[in-house]
Amino acid sequence: MNLTGEMLIGREAVKGSRDPIQAINPATNERLDPSYPGGTQAEVERACELAWNAFDTYRETSLEARAKFLETVADEIEAIGDDLIERAVAESGLPQARIQGERGRTCGQLRMFARVVRAGEWLDVRVDPALPDRQPMPRVDLRQRHVGLGPVVVFGASNFPLAFSVAGGDTASALAAGCPVIVKAHAAHPGTSELVGRAIQSAVKKCDLPEGVFSLIFGSGREVGTALVTDSRVKAAGFTGSRSGGLALWKAAQSRPEPIPFYAEMSSINPVFPLPAALKARGEEMAKAFVGSLNMGAGQFCTNPGLVIALKGPELDAFVSVAGEAVKGSAAQTMLTPGIAEAYQHGVDALAGTGKAKEVARGEKGDGSNQCQTALFVTSASDFLNEQSLQDEVFGATSLVVECADQAELEKVAEHVEGQLTITLQMDDADLEAARKLLPTLERKAGRILVNGWPTGVEVCDAMVHGGPFPATSDSRTTSVGTAAIYRFLRPVSYQNLPDGLLPEAIKESNPLHLKRLVDGKRES
Ligand code: NAP
Repeated sequence: MNLTGEMLIGREAVKGSRDPIQAINPATNERLDPSYPGGTQAEVERACELAWNAFDTYRETSLEARAKFLETVADEIEAIGDDLIERAVAESGLPQARIQGERGRTCGQLRMFARVVRAGEWLDVRVDPALPDRQPMPRVDLRQRHVGLGPVVVFGASNFPLAFSVAGGDTASALAAGCPVIVKAHAAHPGTSELVGRAIQSAVKKCDLPEGVFSLIFGSGREVGTALVTDSRVKAAGFTGSRSGGLALWKAAQSRPEPIPFYAEMSSINPVFPLPAALKARGEEMAKAFVGSLNMGAGQFCTNPGLVIALKGPELDAFVSVAGEAVKGSAAQTMLTPGIAEAYQHGVDALAGTGKAKEVARGEKGDGSNQCQTALFVTSASDFLNEQSLQDEVFGATSLVVECADQAELEKVAEHVEGQLTITLQMDDADLEAARKLLPTLERKAGRILVNGWPTGVEVCDAMVHGGPFPATSDSRTTSVGTAAIYRFLRPVSYQNLPDGLLPEAIKESNPLHLKRLVDGKRES
């Protein structure tokens, strides 16, 4: 594996000159070479200039050329082979099988966006032909298509070193939309970022695209990240991480002379509602499955079930007791970084320190470095309603059970929870009425509503919504997973009375791209 510790600015590899970052293997606390000196304003400037210069050419590439580019990126990532898996395992502490699966997902979503680009539906072509004889006023010729917003900055996420980092969902959807991408690498996995960055750089070259289509910068979020988000040539950004980091960058993006969309996925505790009939019929099985979901990836999923809301009574007591036993038997797992392990411990201590959450059980302590001890707490609905900090995300395998005195209190708690990525109902047929009553509240609160499943595990497909009201994300109108993610980086443009020779291919009268258009109010088949 040939890692150089350099940033990738267009076609060049550039050594930074600011404080170096160095990956740490969280399982051993060993420092991993090389170190990655951070970028400066000069690299930000150069990457933004190249991206801006590439934009008009890249956004007008043919559908086939852009799709082929996305497929080439996937091929190049696969061609790295085991080096990528080894490095990502070492930098994240995640098991090899998980990283292999994540590589499959990353390449799969690049190819999925290639399919989306080729189909061209995202162009959303609408044609309202001129009606010169219309009375009392003639109608002009109007045609609409979507175009990319401009260069996009992507912040790599710590918890998905491949699928939500350099060539992850945000990058794939922005490139699909015709937007050049500048990635601010996450400090937790610089080597993985360099390997994937070089794969994209190579695909740009192989596909003969302008070099500014992709750049990769290392360095501090406060310095380099803020400089990127506030550069006037950057027109949107995608982020996954903490609420404080997301909000700081969102504010920077909104305080620019020209504010831009900043799509931040931040914090979600993913409530689960075990409804009474289901709790009675299969509480034990449910409790075990719940702890299985809680422990997945050491709880470091944005969809981790951090809250359980149910009616107080013997059925819930039994659920808590079985879940408590499962928690006690949960092995300690290595967390992604020393900082995240420390933040987790701090979060669990803060939850316990409220005095409002009673500890039910803790998992095995573990003797390795940076390990997460699973934890389960219980609280009353009245305490939950009165203590806002009980809703704070504890990033890791900790969950809180809220006991409600009756259905009315349960509905009050449902109304009180903040915006979420997911809300889950565990229900049987006899719970249908209770579920129906809850549904309008859940729709207002979450981007995805599940029945009899667990929120961890996010399918990458057309119908997925991985988003939700604040603080789950900064913009509830979108998703960061699935094909609809492309719309975050597009905007509609209407063309009035342009001669056919001046019109872009997508909206020419002869429809040379064979797109399914909306013509005069009717969808073409
Ligand atoms: P983070 O601290 O928010 O960092 C994410 C990115 O934002 C990094 O590139 C970071 O730059 C940058 N950044 C952070 N604060 C900033 C600020 N004030 N101004 C400008 N840029 C800033 O997230 P993390 O490192 O992934 O993990 C820390 C915590 O985030 C976790 O403990 C957890 O609470 C949360 N988290 C949540 C999710 C989720 O999906 N809900 C996922 C991952 C993490 P630097 O390189 O300088 O750090």
